[in-house]
Amino acid sequence: MKEHFFGVQVNTERFDDMLDLIFARIRDGKKSFIVAINPEKLMKAKKNPELHNILNTADFQIPDGVGVLIASRLQKGQIRDRITGVDMMEQLCRRASEEGSGVFLYGAKPGVAAQAAGNLQMTFPGLKVAGTLDGYVKDEEEIIRTINESGADILFVALGSPTQENFIIRNKERLSVSVFQGVGGSFDVFSG
Ligand code: UDP
Repeated sequence: MKEHFFGVQVNTERFDDMLDLIFARIRDGKKSFIVAINPEKLMKAKKNPELHNILNTADFQIPDGVGVLIASRLQKGQIRDRITGVDMMEQLCRRASEEGSGVFLYGAKPGVAAQAAGNLQMTFPGLKVAGTLDGYVKDEEEIIRTINESGADILFVALGSPTQENFIIRNKERLSVSVFQGVGGSFDVFSG
């Protein structure tokens, strides 16, 4: 289910239910593109039709930011769980480790994605890291080939907004990946 804020859709499911939906879509061979929505992005999207469009193109818009929860209550909406981009990435990794799905971390400064992946594997033993790539590689064809050859099911892209969302939209169909999440500075958080 979705609720609307200035014309931007946001998912209303509880966190666990949303994870169930995402993993059911992996099993059904459906692609899922996830973006985090906070009040700052909503304000930007109000003035920027391109960003507005990018946000609504996603399959899951997660309510990142207390402001979104308050706004939902005010319009008698259903959103109850705040789900940050970092929380979503962490829980996707937890479920991936349980279900045997492979994750790929693309973005951030050289070394950061690999460090973040290592830390996530310590938190979730058995997590399959299909690969990592820093966010300063310029050859997009090489990036696509590397991700496809890795056999990853879930791709986290940390290039900042809206670069990461544009990368996902541009390449979603030719990437043999099921779940795409733009995660901003999350690798920097997990690598620390
Ligand atoms: N980044 C990158 N390639 C670039 C520019 C940025 O990999 O060409 C990375 C940067 O190292 C950082 C992340 O993208 O890890 C941007 O994080 P930020 O918190 O700025 O994201 P946002 O605030 O846009 O969500």
